[in-house]
Amino acid sequence: MNDIEKNLQNIKNSIPEDVTLVAVSKTKPISILMQAYNSGQREFGENKIQEMVEKWEEMPKDISWHMIGHVQTNKVKYMAPFVDLIHAVDSIKLLKEINKQAKKHNRIINCLLQIKIAEEESKFGLSKEDAITILESDELKNLANVRIQGLMGMATFTNDQHQVKSEFETISTFFKALKPKYPNLTTLSIGMSGDYKIAIDAGSTMVRIGSSIFGARNYN
Ligand SMILES: *Cc1c(COP(=O)(O)O)cnc(C)c1O
Repeated sequence: MNDIEKNLQNIKNSIPEDVTLVAVSKTKPISILMQAYNSGQREFGENKIQEMVEKWEEMPKDISWHMIGHVQTNKVKYMAPFVDLIHAVDSIKLLKEINKQAKKHNRIINCLLQIKIAEEESKFGLSKEDAITILESDELKNLANVRIQGLMGMATFTNDQHQVKSEFETISTFFKALKPKYPNLTTLSIGMSGDYKIAIDAGSTMVRIGSSIFGARNYN
């Protein structure tokens, strides 16, 4: 068994069966992704559209591709033919563009609204109020080619586990409060390598794990 297969198995053994594992493969070469694929992994996450497109073109077509990074409106068209879930949607403007591009391909593209739960200024995301405004908007009702299927969040990058836990609980409580009114909301995407156990305890249904599967990333 190679390291990636071992890592995947260890993680799968430590998460409940109904939690989806997205293998975050950004910066890693296709040969490495194929090791994960060959051990059964089918959900992959990337944070750059161009890189995801290149990998999609070369890799087997039964993979679910997740766009987990911030999305620029003018790049939506490149992933519209194949992307399965866009995690970090944070405006009605972006939803309109996703809808327009999805329509061209006769598809319905699944999206998550990114909620800002971290303290840091740099993190993207909507306030709860702005998320509700989008969910209730008439504009959204007219977008037949997008489906908002849940929420996504990133906790503050800190060793303070209590803070991480409280941020995940904040988004989880919000998610549970929305669900009765919006039955399409089934996915809560929270948890990365360093905090996925805390996220699962808080109610995560989807974890995005990179370095614990593929090793540290080298950005050079
Ligand atoms: C890179 C990234 C991850 C994975 O991070 P790891 O710490 O390597 O598990 C998860 N979510 C997002 C949005 C990312 O950009």
